[in-house]
Amino acid sequence: MSTVRVRFAPSPTGFFHIGSARTALFNWLYARHTGGTFVLRVEDTDKERNTEESLQCLKDGMKWLGLDWDEGPEKGGDFGPYFQSERDPIYQEALETLRAKDRVYEKEGATWFKISGDPQVIEDQVRGTVSRTEEKDFVIFRSDGSPVFHFVNVVDDIKMGITHVIRGEDHLSNTSKHTELFKAFDAPIPVFAHIPLILKQEGQGKMSKRDKGALLEDYEKEGFFPAAIRNYLCLLGWSPKDDREIIPFDEIIQLFDFKGINKDNARFDEKKMTFFNTEYLRMLPLDEVVSKSKPILSEAGLINDSTDEAYLKNVLEICQEKLRSLPTLPEFVDYFFKEDFAFNEKAKTKIFKKGEPLERLKEVLNLLKNLSLFEKENIQKSITELAETNEQGIGSYFQILRFAISGTSGGPHIDALIETLGQEKTVKRIKTFLENQ
Ligand code: GLU
Repeated sequence: MSTVRVRFAPSPTGFFHIGSARTALFNWLYARHTGGTFVLRVEDTDKERNTEESLQCLKDGMKWLGLDWDEGPEKGGDFGPYFQSERDPIYQEALETLRAKDRVYEKEGATWFKISGDPQVIEDQVRGTVSRTEEKDFVIFRSDGSPVFHFVNVVDDIKMGITHVIRGEDHLSNTSKHTELFKAFDAPIPVFAHIPLILKQEGQGKMSKRDKGALLEDYEKEGFFPAAIRNYLCLLGWSPKDDREIIPFDEIIQLFDFKGINKDNARFDEKKMTFFNTEYLRMLPLDEVVSKSKPILSEAGLINDSTDEAYLKNVLEICQEKLRSLPTLPEFVDYFFKEDFAFNEKAKTKIFKKGEPLERLKEVLNLLKNLSLFEKENIQKSITELAETNEQGIGSYFQILRFAISGTSGGPHIDALIETLGQEKTVKRIKTFLENQ
């Protein structure tokens, strides 16, 4: 077992921000890459804002992303308690240690830390050499007796044997205070890696909780795959430097290191994230697509207990590669399960703008109703021959045909669509369509 100990130290204040999720992920990856230990420490000293609910939201989010922690809430461990609100005696003892070294004094009711004033130089794994000098003593216990973030953060990192601190770049400016404290305790200074911020999609600045895509819980609600989000988040600030994007997670664990973390801030890109999700949907084994689709389709009233399982499987098999996301499934496949599907007016206008689509449809109806081998290769072949004989483009048949039987201009491959729908339904739909024109 490696000696690496990293921690994710959130202050749960009501939601799980994508930036925090990414910090958790990078810590988790580093622990798994090195065979070290991943600690979850809850920095809940702000009693007003840290609720049970927000902690739950955080734990749920981590579990959803597959970021299991080795020590912390629910798990325990040798370095607990893992809630700062339960560590008061430890902070008091640490305060006494500093007092004995003559590094604290009281002023205006608060307890102050005496800085050394020496330049604080760190070799940050992302930023390189960073030097900063503290110029003023700072408060470590407020006048109401509550300890300040810098103090508890450092005391816990020492007591929990944290070897690497991986956190957002917004904490870089705190680091000189922290190293002052580490030195005052004569404790080893951990390795620091300050990871770039996540910028909002448009405009300037860091993503805030009001920006779309900022809250992890929304992804779950919107039907994203955790594996896709995890893969996408890895690339917000890290890359394997070989232009690959969709990478199996085991490989990311193997490849992940500080060298791959970018200095530049990363910009959130919803389109790209959706693209990742679609890619993951494509890679999903068909059985999983089926089991995940069933509740969605029955909720939408498209299937029920008497729906033919083989037919359903067949529909999903031919649609999987064209589908954008699971929540969009009902609108994508509804015409497979009902006869009163809608016709897209825009698509219709486009198809009827040129040629004689109704003539083509009559010809293809004639062909399909008499076709003895109703399977896709033969369907494709016969329509191609029909087009050649009549000296018409093949597209002029397929477009109107697809529209007549599905009401849209997109969807699975036309030959697979016709085969799956079957001869009876296909012919009936074309006839009904022609009657209604
Ligand atoms: N509670 C701090 C935060 O949420 C932790 C900072 C750190 O990782 O050291 O930003």
